[in-house]
Amino acid sequence: MSVDLPTPIVVTRHQCPHCRRTWAKKAAATAHIPRCWQNPAARACKTCWHLEPAEDGPYPEHPGWPEGCTASHDISSGLRANCPSWQRPA
Ligand SMILES: [Zn+2]
Repeated sequence: MSVDLPTPIVVTRHQCPHCRRTWAKKAAATAHIPRCWQNPAARACKTCWHLEPAEDGPYPEHPGWPEGCTASHDISSGLRANCPSWQRPA
């Protein structure tokens, strides 16, 4: 009596060099890279010197502070990309 064994396969996936996400389709990865939050060329908040990280409140009952922008852009409803104020972190 024979036993059916699983067959190992090797797959190629396509990875973003900035955030390390991967896709089965190369076109999907290619479309992602210019708008990747981690890509400095996208001039987005996540790679910008002006981003202030979110902070916890001073005690558990106190709400914390959301991420902010020291260049005075309102990012409360979402982070920006292609921002004219974008600066490379020092
Ligand atoms: Zn990415």
